[in-house]
Amino acid sequence: MDTQMLIGSTFEKGTETEEPILNPKTGATILNLPEASPAQIEAAVLAAEKAFASWSRTTPAQRSGYLLKIADRIEAEAKEFAALEALNCGKPINAVLNDEIPAIVDCYRFFAGAVRSMPGQVAGEYIAGHTSMVRRDPVGIVASIAPWNYPLMMMAWKLAPAIGGGNTVVFKPSEQTPLTTLKLAKILAEVLPEGVVNVVLGRGDSVGNTLINHPKVNMISITGDVATGKKVLQAAAKSVKRTHLELGGKAPVIVFDDADLGAVVSGLRAFGYYNAGQDCTAACRIYAGKKIYDKLVADLSSAVSTIKYDQPDDTENEIGPLISRRQRDRVSSFVERASELKHIEITTGGKPGEGSGFYYQPTVVAGALQEDEIVRREVFGPVVSVTRFADVDEAVNWANDSDYGLASSVWTKDVSRAMATAARLQYGCTWINTHFMLTNEMPHGGLKQSGYGKDMSLYALEDYTAVRHVMVAHG
Ligand code: NAD
Repeated sequence: MDTQMLIGSTFEKGTETEEPILNPKTGATILNLPEASPAQIEAAVLAAEKAFASWSRTTPAQRSGYLLKIADRIEAEAKEFAALEALNCGKPINAVLNDEIPAIVDCYRFFAGAVRSMPGQVAGEYIAGHTSMVRRDPVGIVASIAPWNYPLMMMAWKLAPAIGGGNTVVFKPSEQTPLTTLKLAKILAEVLPEGVVNVVLGRGDSVGNTLINHPKVNMISITGDVATGKKVLQAAAKSVKRTHLELGGKAPVIVFDDADLGAVVSGLRAFGYYNAGQDCTAACRIYAGKKIYDKLVADLSSAVSTIKYDQPDDTENEIGPLISRRQRDRVSSFVERASELKHIEITTGGKPGEGSGFYYQPTVVAGALQEDEIVRREVFGPVVSVTRFADVDEAVNWANDSDYGLASSVWTKDVSRAMATAARLQYGCTWINTHFMLTNEMPHGGLKQSGYGKDMSLYALEDYTAVRHVMVAHG
């Protein structure tokens, strides 16, 4: 197993506090990894600075070639990457191998194409006798900080547009899930010129905090909690760094009375519980029309009770445990507080799993009201609430009545109603008669406190490059 950080072309261990890396399925420690010292972080930033001088002058075609090589190498070692991600995150192996790895490989390939064909304004004589043109140039050194729910995928979303755009990167994975990052670092060191990507390990309040406050870092890209995003903004304000924030979510799902109930139930069973609900787009906040509500709750509860999550044969599992005991206890406490309310009924699940792993039963919380904590706060676990609405205005108002604005969905057979409702939702994404589906060509990112950075798509390349105007006076 790879355990060393990548600083320039050197692999080295951190020298500071050790962090236990756990197997969420058993709670056992896989290994301990020491975090980077301030001197090692400094060396990583300096290596990125040194590399920037030449990397920023490579052609799009050259950078595209590097991205394609990274994609090929991940694809060639798909099974090893999937096994490591499954071990460190507790994910079912098939979910990583069949869902995540192909999307990760495709992300590098998408940006390999995108960097060669960035669109923009036409050059021209906007003042007589002067030709103006717009350039998109790299921002500089990017500090990229990832969460624990999709470590290798978040790395792809951050690295591919950053290095594709000509930037160099100091990357910090979550302190809980660094294993696939360290494996990819080996490949990156073989494929890329020295210093283009550097990897440092450590906790947020030590290594992360040093990185985001580093005067030579030009841009901070972070996926994480809203509270962490606010700290990034405070740090960025000191030296006016560019920020790319992808924060939490609490996706509303509006189900009208005329929706195809079978499709709704199978959709929610999949998209509300995927990755054990540790997903900022999870379909977790259901608003059901008053006629469909009872049948939806009954059918959904019965479908959710069949989700396989703790089978000894992992190939049978649809979801895994939560990432940590702390996260499991947090989820548990949300459900406990909800179940104390008289109007709420836990129609399936509602308990931690047995044994030493961090499992939580897939849970449906029915009868929830708009003001309930379970409706308002991000649980980040396999827990879906269902709330009855009276009319479309109530549904839309409740859906929008949230600090978050990442993802949403509308379920109805009426196309006009679907489009009219989608237009009123204040979310970075609205799906109609589906949920959760992402594709590298389309942007992913939020509004409000979900942040404003766009991942994937040409919009990510825009985020990781700066618009510049060059004007030539005719002689
Ligand atoms: P987190 O904010 O605790 O940690 C995310 C990363 O930030 C980690 O690498 C952590 O070490 C680092 N960090 C924490 N404090 C820091 C600080 N003061 N300075 C610098 N870095 C710091 O979040 P998490 O618990 O790892 O991830 C779960 C959260 O991420 C959820 O809230 C979820 O909604 C969000 N998320 C959002 C998206 C999205 O696309 N919007 C995607 C995945 C996860």
